[in-house]
This record gives sequence, C-alpha cells and structure tokens, in this order.
Amino acid sequence: MRKPFVAGNWKMNLNLAECRELMAALRKGLPDPLPIDVAVCPPFALLFPIQGEVDGTPIKVGAQNLYPEPKGAFTGEISATQIRDTGATYVIIGHSERRHVIGETGELIGRKIPAALKAGLEVIYCVGEKIEEREAGRTEAVVAEQLNHGLTEDLDWSRLTIAYEPVWAIGTGKTATPEQAQEAHAFIRQELAARYNAEWADRIRIQYGGSVKPDNADALMSCPDVDGALVGGASLKAGDFLGIIQAAIRSAS
Ligand code: PEP
Repeated sequence: MRKPFVAGNWKMNLNLAECRELMAALRKGLPDPLPIDVAVCPPFALLFPIQGEVDGTPIKVGAQNLYPEPKGAFTGEISATQIRDTGATYVIIGHSERRHVIGETGELIGRKIPAALKAGLEVIYCVGEKIEEREAGRTEAVVAEQLNHGLTEDLDWSRLTIAYEPVWAIGTGKTATPEQAQEAHAFIRQELAARYNAEWADRIRIQYGGSVKPDNADALMSCPDVDGALVGGASLKAGDFLGIIQAAIRSAS
C-alpha cells in the first residue's frame, strides 16, 4: 500500500505575511496524527521562513525548481545543496511552467534529478501532455519521452515521486476525469516496470495534478494508481488544501 502524498505548489504567489497566515491555518486544521505525507513548496525566498513555520509539525517544505550544477556562475539560479541548507526536503522538477513557459529542455530537466538526489532531496518529477498532444493521440508517447529524459535505473527510486499533470488541466479549472487520470497513471507505472524495475514501479507514488479541488479530490484519489495530488491554486487556501488532504486520508483507509 502506497502512502498518499499531497504537495502544494504555491508558484510565485503569497508574500511573507500571507504565507504565515496560511501556515497558521494549516497547522490548526491538520489532522493529528497525520497518516499521509504533506508538503508545501513556496518560492525560493520564502523557504527559510516557512521552514520555521513547519517546525514541530509533520508538514515538509519543498522548492519549486533547482539548477543541476553544484555551484558557479549561474546568476539567478539555486543549487540542490543550497535548497537543502534551508531545511527543505523536497524539490519539484520538470513542472510544465518550467517546460513550456520558461522553455527548459528535457535534457536540462533530466540533469536536475540526480543533482537533487545527490544533495539528499526528495524529487517530485512532473510529466504531462499538452492539449494538442492529447488530441493527436500522443499522450503516452509524450509522457514516455519525459520519463525517459528524467529517469535512469541507477537513481534512488525510494526518494522519487512522479506527478502526472496534464498541461491542459493546470490552472484551467478543467480536471482530467478519474478515468483519464487512472489511464495515464497506470501507463506510467507499466512503463516504469517494463523499462526499469517492477518492484520500484509498484512502490513509487504517482500524484495527479491539474485543478484538484476538494470536490473532485475523492474521485481522483480513489483511482488505484493515483497516490495523492500536486496542488496549485487550491493549495493557497487553507480550507481547500485541508479538504484535499482529508480526501487523501480517506483514500488510504
Ligand atoms: C500545479 O501547478 O502543479 C497545478 C496542478 O496547478 P493547479 O492545481 O492550479 O491546476
């Protein structure tokens, strides 16, 4: 049985005061004990103060990106060890906004995963197709190529989570149906088993991301291959994020 994992991707939202308010509400509403894993991923500048906000709680902190080199002349970038130094334990890699808004290549994204793992971080690796790729029947080919860029057999798979995030569902209010999500998640698991290691493919957690809200979270997370959620917009509102966490807890029982 895989333990569900819910992570909030705050993107470039919230100032320090707003983050503190959100964290206070999360701390107050979080079930105790917490039978699932929960993380919040603030912008880089807020990693340190948010670490202080989660101390003494089971909530973990993650970054939204990193640069794969250990140090050097990479103005504006941040390394895996610098992220680790803030106390953060997770990093999101390959988010569709990095791929399609910022223009990162699959090759660059692929180099980030071993860099993160080497620094002791856990990775949430995002994959997913654009609407025109889905309509052209290319969903599986696109996702398979992204998996191929990011993953190799020698990685420490116990510190990897995959997030299936169809690009057309991110921030649009259009969620994949539970059937579409299950189909993609099952495909990812089969691909990992066929290409790498069946045991790890069975153990790895695959989150769904794309307009997850409290009212669709139960249906998505009741799918057998959906092991939690990567949540954007709804992670900015304590009530919504807590509602999604409750759905993940129900999916585990
Ligand atoms: C995301 O940014 O990873 C995401 C899934 O966003 P949203 O929940 O807003 O669609």
